[in-house]
Amino acid sequence: MKNELTLTTNSEKETMDFGEYLGRHAFDGLFIALTGDLGAGKTHFVQGLAKGMGIEGVVGSPTFTIMNYYDGPIPLKHFDFYRLHSEEDLWNIGWEEYGDGGVVVVEWADMFPSLIPEEAIHIHITLSSENERNIRISWSEKTPESIVKEIQNYALGH
Ligand code: ADP
Ligand code: MG
Repeated sequence: MKNELTLTTNSEKETMDFGEYLGRHAFDGLFIALTGDLGAGKTHFVQGLAKGMGIEGVVGSPTFTIMNYYDGPIPLKHFDFYRLHSEEDLWNIGWEEYGDGGVVVVEWADMFPSLIPEEAIHIHITLSSENERNIRISWSEKTPESIVKEIQNYALGH
């Protein structure tokens, strides 16, 4: 079975809409690893994700804080590894307890690949022009099948 697919979005709204769709199907323990250059749209994706999860309020970029926590029906933990110098910094802020439970989404996940669990969904966003993005979604055998089906369904309609 193929374990990846690609979507193209033509506006930040379309990227957020995809995030929102995943947010509506989010479950406790879902882990999303985001990669892609600065300005790719990772944070906008997370804004949509939060909206889909029923989280009210503004979702900003955690670049300077490493982690933002949002309370909701399922809590959302939004990490950004960009400014992390070592895994140690993460243990210091309590990665172990934060990383457990809720939905975890990590920007710049490729900085510390060993911290990304096997069941994670990987989303890699590439800039193709000012408003066009290619979004490659991949997963493993360990990724819950239900969310893979939802992603495949979404891709069929887009
Ligand atoms: P990152 O977190 O990856 O650095 P951001 O989400 O902060 O990226 O910023 C993405 C920027 O690209 C925003 O200014 C957004 O308006 C713009 N943009 C243009 N087209 C798209 C698109 N198709 N998807 C997402 N963002 C887009
Ligand atoms: Mg960002």
